[in-house]
Formats: sequence, C-alpha cells, structure tokens
Amino acid sequence: MLRIVRILAPNPGVYTLEGTNTWVVGEGPAAVIDPGPDDPEHLYRVTHEAGEVSAILLTHDHEDHAAGAALLSESTDAPILSFRPPEGGRQIRDGHELRVGGATLQAILAPGHSHDSMVFFVRQVSALFTGDSVLGSGTSLIDPPDGDLVHYLRSLRKMQELRSRVIYPGHGSVVYDAQGKLEEYVAHRGRREQQVLASLEDGLSTVDDMVFDIYEEYPPEVYPLAARTVLAHLLKLEREGRVERFRDQDLEHWEVAGDRQCERCGAPVSGRARLCDRHRLEALQERPDPAVLQDWPTPNQPEAEPEAVRELVGEPAPDADPGLEEEFSGLWDDTEPEPDQS
Ligand SMILES: [Zn+2]
Ligand SMILES: [Zn+2]
Repeated sequence: MLRIVRILAPNPGVYTLEGTNTWVVGEGPAAVIDPGPDDPEHLYRVTHEAGEVSAILLTHDHEDHAAGAALLSESTDAPILSFRPPEGGRQIRDGHELRVGGATLQAILAPGHSHDSMVFFVRQVSALFTGDSVLGSGTSLIDPPDGDLVHYLRSLRKMQELRSRVIYPGHGSVVYDAQGKLEEYVAHRGRREQQVLASLEDGLSTVDDMVFDIYEEYPPEVYPLAARTVLAHLLKLEREGRVERFRDQDLEHWEVAGDRQCERCGAPVSGRARLCDRHRLEALQERPDPAVLQDWPTPNQPEAEPEAVRELVGEPAPDADPGLEEEFSGLWDDTEPEPDQS
C-alpha cells in the first residue's frame, strides 16, 4: 500500500481553486510533488507529514506549485527535480524514473498548460499526478505562448494511453475515474473549437467579440482568462490552416480560411479564380456594356489585351480542365465585341 497524502496550501483563488495540492508520496523516504507557494507554515506541515524527503518534484514552474521548493529543499536537503528547474535544481526528462519509499515514479513530459509541464505516473497503483494539466474540477488554462493547445491535446492522448485509474491533480479533489475525466477534457476542447468556428462564421473576428459571444452566460470576471483560451484555439486552428489572421485599425482579426467564393454566386472556387466555371463562361458570353466598349480595342488592334475582362475572369484554377481552357479561347474569339457605332 503506497502512502499518498494531500496537503492543501492556503492560496485559494481564481487560478488555484481552493488552493494548491502538495502531494507526499511514499514513506522513508518520501517524495514531495509540488511544494506549493513559498509559505513557511504550509512547508512546515509538509515536512512534518513527509518525514524524510528524498526528492522534490515539480509538475511545472508556476509559482503556486514551485515557489516553496527552495525553502523545502533547504530544510530537507532533497534535490528539486523538474523539466525546467529553478536555480540549483536538476532537470529530469521524459521517461525518467525515480524510486521513492517503495514506489517508482515515472516522469512524463506533458506540455500544453505550460511548456515544461510534466505528469508523474506510479504504475503499481495506477496513479497519475497531473499538476495543472488535469484539475479536480474545471479545465486547465492554456495561456499562449507558453501554453499551447496543440501540445496539450497530444499530452491528453499520452495520458489516456497510460490507462491510469486515479488522478491526483494540482488543484481540486482526487479524480477516481481518470479515463472518464480525460475523455471529458478532450470532448470539452472539441466543443470549444466548434464554438470558436461558429463565432467566426457568424462574422465575429476579434478575440474580445468571440469571448462575449461564447462566454455570454459567464460573469465578466472570467473574460480575461476566456480570452486566453479563445486565442489558444485560434492559434491551433491557424497552425492547421483553418483560420487566418489579419490586422485592421491596429486590431488583430481572425477569419475562417478557405477557398475563395465566386463573385457572382458565392459558390466555392479553387485557387485564385474569381468566378466559378459556370460564371466564367457566362462572363465570356455576355455582351459587355456599351459604355465599357468605348475603351475597348477595335478588331484591327488584336495585340491589345482586353484587360477589364481578363481581370474579371481571373487566373484559371490550377486543376482546371485543359479542355475547358480550349473552349474559353474559342468562345472568346466568337464573342469579341464589335464597337457600337450608334
Ligand atoms: Zn500552472
Ligand atoms: Zn496551478
């Protein structure tokens, strides 16, 4: 039976729920996962509970998890181990195994919430210590650029593959249905992505407008955090080539990327074409407006290009049927307008 004890740090807040969970794992010696804030009273309780400490592990370097590490290390002589260690700490890498008090803790790199996020897996008891990557309630904040949603989703899959039973999170209560929680997290991100895309399709283009739309039922206090989340989704979609950003009046705007639309009927066209096949033909067959004709070349100036129509027709799509191109040139010759003499 492996000893796992939670000591709740006195730092409740918007980001930390009821406070940071400091975990003591094993006994004689024990490992401490996330000492929490630099609070001497909390750290005293941790050392008192832990007894001999052989390692101080950090899931990541955010203050609410890591700030107390230096003081704890000083008082216990235990090394600080993490992927992005503080001064004096030691770096551990993906797959690193650590034996403490009868258990083997495996460090698994799980970036997403932060670039340096790690989770610690104890196979014997199928337990996963997740830091801020998975919480007891609510969802993990992905704050770009250190937070990255593409990495995060990959890390969630990696955690799913461990098939752990219990999650010991950095905030909130123990999760006894680890797989269910991970599935719920993946589904939640999928839903948010759909909401972001729907907002864009409704013509909203700034992060703030999308936040008002998607988080309409939430109190305004969550909007700054929601804005980071929406941005994280947009950056993921941008990397996948599904949205594009542009600047207008010093504001960043976003839009759904995609093929252009026919200027006449709105049907999708590929490449840089401005009209669909049907309207390309139609444009060529149309008898141009007499006012336009005044500027057109007469038939005895064949070398001059009728720019106005070429511009309207646009470049043929790269996958255009060459047969169709033949047809176009034929039509073009046939419909070359005679200047109106009237
Ligand atoms: Zn964090
Ligand atoms: Zn945290």
